[in-house]
Amino acid sequence: MSFDFENYKTQGVKVNYYYVCQRKLWLFSKGITMEHLSDRVLSGKVLHETAYSRQKNREIEIDDIVKLDIIDGEFVREIKLSSKMSNSHRMQLLYYLYYLHMRGIEKKGIINYVKEKKQEFIELSDTDKIEIEKALVEIKTICNMEKPPSIEKKATCKKCSYYEFCFVQEVEIDLDG
Ligand code: SF4
Repeated sequence: MSFDFENYKTQGVKVNYYYVCQRKLWLFSKGITMEHLSDRVLSGKVLHETAYSRQKNREIEIDDIVKLDIIDGEFVREIKLSSKMSNSHRMQLLYYLYYLHMRGIEKKGIINYVKEKKQEFIELSDTDKIEIEKALVEIKTICNMEKPPSIEKKATCKKCSYYEFCFVQEVEIDLDG
């Protein structure tokens, strides 16, 4: 049976967050954002506004859902500060390649890690397609949950924009009231 992509397609940032932390994905999906407080997020925004500013085909939005940093010939290029979260970056870019594939466009990917001045080349395989489809189904399930997934303390939590929300403030989430 073919995958019902139209029913499951989502923003690239949600795919990224799914691989970082399912609780983070849920909080973001409910519009709870702390990102204005995060230096890391601010650095990322500045990076996107300044890096490759002379490059044509930047910030290409498709279907009002996904936004590709740069299309450069046969490549989709994503710009990231560092490779510390390389798996989530990689899966986000694989999702973009998958998205384009489902629109009949075949591209490869490059992630530019600005701090380390290195590039990672990415190609979408059949195994990746299955992994992306599984992730899209789980993302929808998580986003439809009434309560957030519980906190799972990870090394990355201290750099997460929701750190205070999860570990400092005693916040009771009540979406009904
Ligand atoms: S602080 Fe940790 S548990 Fe909380 S959303 Fe961020 S990564 Fe997830």
